[in-house]
Amino acid sequence: MQKILVVGAGFSGAVLARQLAESNRFEILVVDERNHIAGNCHTKRDAETNVMEHMYGPHIFNTSNKKVWDYVNHFAEFMPYTNRVKAVTRAGVFSFPINLLTINQLFGKSFNPREAEAFVSTLGDKSITEPQNFEEQALSMVGKEIYEIFFRDYTIKQWGCDPKELPASILKRLPIRFTYDDNYYHNVYQGIPKNGYTELVSNILAHPNISVKLNDCYTREWNGNYDYVFYTGPIDAYFSYARGRLGYRTIYFERNVFNGEDYQGNPVINYCDKVVPYTRVHEHKHFTPWEKHSKSLYLTEFSKETEENDIPFYPKALAADKAMLEVYKQMAEGEIKTTFLGRLATYRYLDMHHVIDEALTIAEQFLRNTAPLEAFMRFPIING
Ligand code: UDP
Repeated sequence: MQKILVVGAGFSGAVLARQLAESNRFEILVVDERNHIAGNCHTKRDAETNVMEHMYGPHIFNTSNKKVWDYVNHFAEFMPYTNRVKAVTRAGVFSFPINLLTINQLFGKSFNPREAEAFVSTLGDKSITEPQNFEEQALSMVGKEIYEIFFRDYTIKQWGCDPKELPASILKRLPIRFTYDDNYYHNVYQGIPKNGYTELVSNILAHPNISVKLNDCYTREWNGNYDYVFYTGPIDAYFSYARGRLGYRTIYFERNVFNGEDYQGNPVINYCDKVVPYTRVHEHKHFTPWEKHSKSLYLTEFSKETEENDIPFYPKALAADKAMLEVYKQMAEGEIKTTFLGRLATYRYLDMHHVIDEALTIAEQFLRNTAPLEAFMRFPIING
C-alpha cells in the first residue's frame, strides 16, 4: 500500500482521505494541529445548555449539487432546515436577504413582484454598466439607499476595508428576490446534520485504511516519509510565511447563556449599522428545531484582521494578497508529489459543498491517474 499524508481534518481532507481509502490501495494518515476534527465546521454540545454549538460560527449546508448532497447524506442523517435571517438596520428590522417584504416595508408600498422589480431598477445606478467591485455591484443593482442601509456598514465591519476594494462576487452570494421567499440561499438542497458536523466528518473518516492524528503540527519535513501529500492548510503557512502573510478576516464570539427558552426569536440576526460594533448574533438552539432545551446559548459575532495566533476564516483577496498568492503558487509548483486543495490551501472563499465537490473530483482523478505521481496536479483546476 502506498503511504498518503493528508494535512487537515476538515471537509477537504476527510473526503479526500475517504475516497482514496475506499480503493484499498493506500494507507492514509490525516493529521490536524487542532484537538478536533471537522475544521471550522466543528460542532460540540455545550455543557450547560446541551445545545449543539457551531464552534466556528453557523454552518448551514446548502448545495444544488446532487452528488455532494447524496454524499453527505450517506454519512449522516440530515434534517430539513431553511435559513431565514432578519436584519436590524437604522430603518428598522427587515426580512433579509432583500425580498418583496423587505422592499414593501422599507418603502411603505404594497408592490407585486413586477412593480417591485421595476421600482428597484429605477433605484440602481445606470451609469455603472460593468461593476468592478462590491460597492459598484450594490449601487448598480439596488442604488444608494438600500446599499447604505443593508450593505455598506455591515461589509466594512465584516471585511475591515472599503467595499470598493472588495470583489463584486461577494455581494453576488446573496439573492435579491421580488417574491416573498425569504430563504437565505438559492440552492436546491438545504439541511443540518441531526447530530452535528463533527459526527458527519467522523463517519467520513471511519475507515480501516485511515488513521487520524490530532494536536500535531505538520511541517514540510514530513513529506519525505510519504508517497504523496494532500495539503489543506493555509498555503502561506506551508512555506512558513516566507513571502508574508495572506490577508484573512477572522471572527470571534462573545458567548452567553440565556436562562429561558428563546433569546432572540430567530437563529441569526444581522446588525447592518455601524453604531452596533458586531455583525450578527446567532442563537444555536434554533439550528436544531427538532430538539428541546430549557436554556439557550447565543453568540455575538465580531470580525477583525487575522493576527499570528488567530484562525483564518475569510480570504480578503485584495490586490496585494492576489500578488502574494501568485508567488506562493509558483513556489508550490516546485513541491513535487503534493496537491494543495480546499479553502485555505487555494486561498478562496469556498462553501462546504464546494470543497466537498472539489475533493471528490481530485480523489477521482488521483485514483484514475496512471502518469508518474510527480506530474499529478498541484492545484485543482480553478473555475473563476
Ligand atoms: N452582507 C451585508 N449585510 C448583511 C449580510 C451580508 O452587507 O446583512 C454582505 C457582506 O459583505 C458579506 C456578504 O454580503 O460578506 C456575503 O454574505 P454571506 O451571508 O454570504 O456571508 P457569510 O455567510 O460567508 O458570512
